[in-house]
Amino acid sequence: MMRLPPFRYVRAGSVDEAIALLAEHGPDALPVSGGTDLYANMKQRLFTPKVVVGLRPIKTLHFIEYDERAGLTLGALATLTDVAESEVVRTLYAALAQAAAAVSTPQLRNMGTIGGNVCVDTRCNYYNQNLDWRKALGYCMKKDGDICRVAPSSPKCVAVNSSDTAPVLIAFDATLHLAGPGGERAVRAADFYRDDGMFAWAKAPGEIVTRITLPPPTPHTRSAYLKLRMRNSFDFPILGVAAMLRTDETGICRDARVVVNAVSPRPILVADAASALVGTRLDAAALDAAADAAYAVAKPLDNTSATIPYRKRMVRVFARRALAAAADSTP
Ligand SMILES: Cc1cc2nc3c(=O)[nH]c(=O)nc-3n(C[C@H](O)[C@H](O)[C@H](O)COP(=O)(O)OP(=O)(O)OC[C@H]3O[C@@H](n4cnc5c(N)ncnc54)[C@H](O)[C@@H]3O)c2cc1C
Ligand code: SF4
Repeated sequence: MMRLPPFRYVRAGSVDEAIALLAEHGPDALPVSGGTDLYANMKQRLFTPKVVVGLRPIKTLHFIEYDERAGLTLGALATLTDVAESEVVRTLYAALAQAAAAVSTPQLRNMGTIGGNVCVDTRCNYYNQNLDWRKALGYCMKKDGDICRVAPSSPKCVAVNSSDTAPVLIAFDATLHLAGPGGERAVRAADFYRDDGMFAWAKAPGEIVTRITLPPPTPHTRSAYLKLRMRNSFDFPILGVAAMLRTDETGICRDARVVVNAVSPRPILVADAASALVGTRLDAAALDAAADAAYAVAKPLDNTSATIPYRKRMVRVFARRALAAAADSTP
């Protein structure tokens, strides 16, 4: 059994308190929400914070609200179960409910939060291992080593973004609201992720995610999220595809966003997929062309389960299925 390293848990009762505690302890501290990612990683000694700042006591961040003009607001501490089961999310932002429901197991969804999910650590076969395993190999650049085991000539880490909800939030053009020592700021989900597995989030030290807002859907918005994983019972994605389609009242597609995840350090918004869909009636040829566009941009590497050619081939298959599921769903 792997044990947690020693650390001190300090409880934050408010956002201001959390920011003050994180500032006080600097690089020795990390925030924790549900702990379903952080504590597992601490057991593997991927993180060894001296202080863990607990956000769960912050009651003002446990909520899901919907307003016809403002859209959807998720408090960062809304659990994945809350998101997956919310009637308004299921009806108006179906892909988000599907993504939240596809994370891990019921127990982890009851503890895991949407704020923790958007900040979940990037993953790699050479990194998500226990200390002895990593030590025997000589470590890697992301933790304690100096080269990338997946791409030895790469100057940066290529561990994959493994959040199920991140691609959906980008598809819905969500905004993440952060609070930190410098005050509050808002970042579009599309700009929150970086193409480097070690520095994967546009989040300054000491900042926390407090809310996530999604614009109100237009009347003919449809969406779907599909995930490929080794075991459908609880695994991380080795591929995730989010599709959001907006048509006018005549059925012509006016806006489309297709986002592919778990094949690179950040989710990929496929611009050519949108070009293939907008202006069409979402016929089979348009969906095929959009799936081809997703296939073209995805470049999986040898850092998760399954082979590169298989994951690459599955991008077209899952993109096509996600698009069909979105197109066939009731707006
Ligand atoms: C067996 C197993 C299977 C899993 N499968 C999946 C899966 O299929 N898909 C998936 O997406 N995830 C999966 N996870 C990871 C995890 O359960 C989820 O991502 C969960 O949503 C994380 O939320 P949390 O609140 O528990 O985050 P925590 O563990 O509390 O935090 C995760 C990270 O985010 C930081 N953090 C937490 N809250 C905030 C905040 N408000 N602001 C800023 N930083 C914050 C923490 O410091 C930490 O680095 C799995 C985990 C396990 C152990
Ligand atoms: S991609 Fe390279 S640097 Fe990043 S975790 Fe994997 S082996 Fe380490």
